[in-house]
Amino acid sequence: MINIILFGPPGSGKGTQAAILIEKYGLEHISTGDLFRYNLKNDTELGKEARTFMDKGMLVPDDVTIKMLEARVLESKDPAGFIFDGFPRTIAQADALMDLMKRQSSEINALVKLEVSRDEIISRLLERGKTSGRTDDQNEQTISKRIDVYLEETAPVFGYYDRLEKSYSVDGLGTIEEIAHRLHAVIDHLCELQNEES
Ligand code: ADP
Repeated sequence: MINIILFGPPGSGKGTQAAILIEKYGLEHISTGDLFRYNLKNDTELGKEARTFMDKGMLVPDDVTIKMLEARVLESKDPAGFIFDGFPRTIAQADALMDLMKRQSSEINALVKLEVSRDEIISRLLERGKTSGRTDDQNEQTISKRIDVYLEETAPVFGYYDRLEKSYSVDGLGTIEEIAHRLHAVIDHLCELQNEES
């Protein structure tokens, strides 16, 4: 089992790359953003609660997010591993994930960060907003707020895994294939490490 956190600012390409990785490695993709959007669309209580935060570019409170993520992981039957996308976004979420993995007799193998500059992110998100129907991608103020929240609350999560010697960085600029190739190199390396241990 191999569990990976795909990390990086909004618009860094996590969702696009996760879709490629699950095909190649048979992993299960869990995106908290997608889970919230599903609830929004279906007008659930959780969706109603999340909407106010998402529309402002703020994080949904940790207790709500962690509960949703745990339920989604426990729902999964016998996966080869998970790719977490958009989670953990705070230190409290990182602690909760560590705890959850321990309870499953498993662990997070690595956090892999996609590096993309602020200017590139803003232009990508505005472009995505034209077609995705995501209101949080159509407003430059909301985008800017999400980047600020990323830098203040989420970026420290990189340090958390760095101290555990589990952090990797990949250049997030280039074609989708080029970036996928860089990620494959990291994950193949992780698989080798795991084979050596077993
Ligand atoms: P992006 O990475 O493009 O900003 P996501 O689809 O990952 O978008 O998330 C959209 C929104 O959902 C976030 O701005 C936030 O409001 C909420 N969200 C997603 N994941 C989390 C999380 N782990 N903790 C708190 N809020 C979250």
